[in-house]
Amino acid sequence: MATPYDYIIVGAGSAGSVLAERLSANPNHHVLLVEEGGAANWLSLMPKGYGKLLFDPGFSHYYPTSPGDGAHAPQEVWARGRMLGGSSAINGMVWTRGVPADYDSIEASGNPGWGWSEMLRVFRAIENHHLGASDYRGAGGPVTISTNPHKARLTDAFIAAAAGTGLNVKQDQNGPDQEGVGYAQWNIDARGRRVSAARAFLDPARKRPNFTIRSGVRVDRVIVENGHAVGIAGVENGAPVEFRTAGEVILSAGGLMSPKLLLLSGIGDAAALSALGIDVKHHSPNVGRRLREHLVLMLSFRLKQWQDSDNREYSGVRLLANVLNYLVAGKGPMARGAAEAIAFVRALPGAGRPDAQLMFNPYSMSPAGGMKFEDEPGMQVYSFILRPESEGSLQLTSADPQAPLNVNPNYLATERDRATAIAATRAIRRIMAEPALADLVVGETAKTAGAQTDEDILGLYDRFGGAGYHAVGTAGMGPNDDDVVDSRLRVRGVTGLRVADCSVFQQIPSGNTNAPAMALGWRLAELIEEEAR
Ligand SMILES: Cc1cc2nc3c(=O)[nH]c(=O)nc-3n(C[C@H](O)[C@H](O)[C@H](O)COP(=O)(O)OP(=O)(O)OC[C@H]3O[C@@H](n4cnc5c(N)ncnc54)[C@H](O)[C@@H]3O)c2cc1C
Repeated sequence: MATPYDYIIVGAGSAGSVLAERLSANPNHHVLLVEEGGAANWLSLMPKGYGKLLFDPGFSHYYPTSPGDGAHAPQEVWARGRMLGGSSAINGMVWTRGVPADYDSIEASGNPGWGWSEMLRVFRAIENHHLGASDYRGAGGPVTISTNPHKARLTDAFIAAAAGTGLNVKQDQNGPDQEGVGYAQWNIDARGRRVSAARAFLDPARKRPNFTIRSGVRVDRVIVENGHAVGIAGVENGAPVEFRTAGEVILSAGGLMSPKLLLLSGIGDAAALSALGIDVKHHSPNVGRRLREHLVLMLSFRLKQWQDSDNREYSGVRLLANVLNYLVAGKGPMARGAAEAIAFVRALPGAGRPDAQLMFNPYSMSPAGGMKFEDEPGMQVYSFILRPESEGSLQLTSADPQAPLNVNPNYLATERDRATAIAATRAIRRIMAEPALADLVVGETAKTAGAQTDEDILGLYDRFGGAGYHAVGTAGMGPNDDDVVDSRLRVRGVTGLRVADCSVFQQIPSGNTNAPAMALGWRLAELIEEEAR
């Protein structure tokens, strides 16, 4: 029998890594962190290395979707990180935290301890912001945050064009007011290296005698005895393996895998589980339901001059030169995150606060798909609505842990979501029509330019929309009996079991989800310490 740990954490991603580091900072806790993937390689350190890692099953999990009839999106395959650092080791490194109202509304829904005053304190503790500490930013924390240092005339023109539509120009994307436009902020350090959750939290902690990391172990279920979680069961090198805990199991396997593990462990909709022959431990109908995801639509624009476009920088001799330049100097296109400038806009008339995020890049992807770029100079701007109402779901297709999930995003299922999505696309076009860009831009490319009516724009989402990689809600936190976890992230109906990752957010915090997931891991560690005291 293996050592009985106090805390077994499943998944070394954004939330799990932070939680493991924080809990193991207390020498009285024996913490085991179990991860299916292995160590990240140099491509994860190099920001643009995600262009390769995303297509490598050694470093990514894949979840095909089944959108169903009439859905506003094509069939897609969602990727997630599969290594120490999880999706933070493969993501676009855009650092946005959401806004006070996101967290205050979590608290107001009956979840004490998750309001902005607590979460701002946590974000400030996590950050090592290059702009220094302020009421809104942290300095000296484990995650270095930089503002895109690549000042380019096209990016400046995009920012000026957005300002021309009435937006404020912001120096700090995470400052007091979200509405506005500015250079992106990234969790990339001064030498151009990604700061993943593994680098920031696991590397400094891995030598602690009370902390064990087991990578290469795929967890298949939680072992529940007499209504209590006593351990986990999985597979290591093809052989079954079990780990036992004297304390708790905490699932941090991400917004898709944590609910899958709950379902495989008999926690979910009783009828659906029984139909698959799974022994029901607790009827919890919303496991895997209430899934919310950002739906992204990219518009590409032809540029007048090659000097403004990076389209040639990621192939052939230029790619080699850029990788070399990166390795020697830590600079150039390989050192940059997924968006160079970001605008938060009120797209829908009457919106009280930003409802859409627009991301600018000095390159344009080929309509052929994959990681191919247009062979003419181009740029792109993509949008997503910040707080979608539409709810999708995921379900088991079999009791076999290796069987694929049935994931139905159910995007744009409400009138408000459709209207906001259309308005977000129009917001991009308003910016791109501003005089500030006229000297540099020819116009929108043929793939989307003809779609001008509301119906046509919705049709673009149907054909070309894709996930923003921010799925939440599948093990939602709340005070009601049918919320999967309570405000201390304890799974209802089974003791000794919690979920700590994006699954527990009932709404997507307004922006990208890496920083919120890290903050969630940190906050749960505080709550657990409080309970232990
Ligand atoms: C391609 C991509 C781009 C993104 N870009 C950005 C961005 O620019 N900015 C931003 O803020 N957010 C971005 N995101 C989103 C953000 O990275 C994620 O929301 C966040 O990292 C999720 O954290 P998590 O802790 O919920 O899960 P994850 O970080 O996904 O961690 C889950 C971990 O659990 C492991 N795991 C899963 N199943 C098992 C199992 N059965 N057994 C053992 N281990 C298991 C996984 O391998 C993984 O390491 C992006 C995501 C992706 C995928």
